[in-house]
Amino acid sequence: MNKNWKFVCLGIILSFIISPGCAYNKSSLPDLLVDNQQIAITANPDAARNDCDTLVITCIDYRFAIANQEFINNTLGLKDNYDHISIPGSIYNLVNPETRDLLFSKFSLSVSLHLIKRIVIISHKDCGGYGGSVSFGSEIAEYETLCTDLRNARELLIERYPTLEVDLFIESLTTEEKPKVRFEKIP
Ligand SMILES: [Zn+2]
Repeated sequence: MNKNWKFVCLGIILSFIISPGCAYNKSSLPDLLVDNQQIAITANPDAARNDCDTLVITCIDYRFAIANQEFINNTLGLKDNYDHISIPGSIYNLVNPETRDLLFSKFSLSVSLHLIKRIVIISHKDCGGYGGSVSFGSEIAEYETLCTDLRNARELLIERYPTLEVDLFIESLTTEEKPKVRFEKIP
């Protein structure tokens, strides 16, 4: 076998070895945004209006992202009828005097711009904004702190916007074989 043929054979062998690895790393989705292509996704017809009913406040935690959308859109029935502020620690930022003014300034935009009538606040257990579950010492202490912060947040909001309805929820990730996110309404 001459030198050129050896290179060809080596190339063929390498292509079989390398290809599966590359295919594994590549996303199966085409990059539709290359060359400034645009993607159009159908919006809810109701989204053409200028206001919405509700402002939803959640933590950014990715573990709850899909469940939050399902809960907000389907369980609460708010499809395309809500503003959404997602911030690490959720309502802890409103209870904390150091970040309270910043958050209020963002809330006021939603309230005045979109004429919202209700605020839904969702806090979650094992939140990094609080230092995780371990920082509370016990499950009961964590639950009590989250309930207290949620109720304090509701008081602060109603003090500023007396006509608003404020609904509070705590969500938690279960450790079952198939993990689930459970939501509990806090009175
Ligand atoms: Zn969190």
